[in-house]
Formats: sequence, structure tokens, C-alpha cells
Amino acid sequence: MALGGITFKHEKVGCAMLAGGNAHPYAPGTKPELLPVWDKNLCVRCALCYIYCPHAAINRLDDGFFGVNQNFCTGCGICHRECWFGAVSMQEVD
Ligand code: SF4
Ligand code: SF4
Repeated sequence: MALGGITFKHEKVGCAMLAGGNAHPYAPGTKPELLPVWDKNLCVRCALCYIYCPHAAINRLDDGFFGVNQNFCTGCGICHRECWFGAVSMQEVD
């Protein structure tokens, strides 16, 4: 699956985030082929990935790091591209 060059800047301004995981009820209907995986050794917990996820699919974990809610993630890869520290990689779903 090609991720293309989509960043948060490509998201339309003015979209309403009515609730976490908007992608779920309005989902394209298919499970993503790729999901984000976090490397805690590289992550500085800046929360940019959390902020820029257009589907509120990223959760802050109890230890301050981040993880994905697979029910809401579309595999768009924005979290991967917006992380300045290379801490998010997109990996194939088993
Ligand atoms: S953007 Fe990168 S460094 Fe910042 S919290 Fe997310 S994974 Fe960690
Ligand atoms: S790939 Fe990242 S930015 Fe895109 S929906 Fe999933 S968690 Fe959010």
C-alpha cells in the first residue's frame, strides 16, 4: 500500500471532530493494510502524532507514550510523517 505524501496540512479545515474515532462510523469500510507502531526509544512524548491524527485514533498510554486504537485508524500514515524523531513506523497488519 502506497502511503503517498499526505500530511495533516491536506486535511480540510473546518471538519468537525465530534468524537474520538470519527473514522469508525464513517470509515471507508476496509481495514488498513498498515498500522503505526511506536518506538519508545525514539519517542520524546511531544504528542504531535496524537494532535495530528485526523481520526483521533491515537491514545496516550499510562506511561505517557502513545498507541493506536485499531478500530479507528485508517492507516493514513500522517502520524508517521509528522513525527520529527522517526518514532512511528507503519507496519503491515498480520
Ligand atoms: S510525534 Fe513522535 S516523538 Fe512525538 S509523541 Fe508522537 S511518536 Fe513520540
Ligand atoms: S495512521 Fe496514524 S494518523 Fe492515520 S489514522 Fe492511523 S493513527 Fe491516525
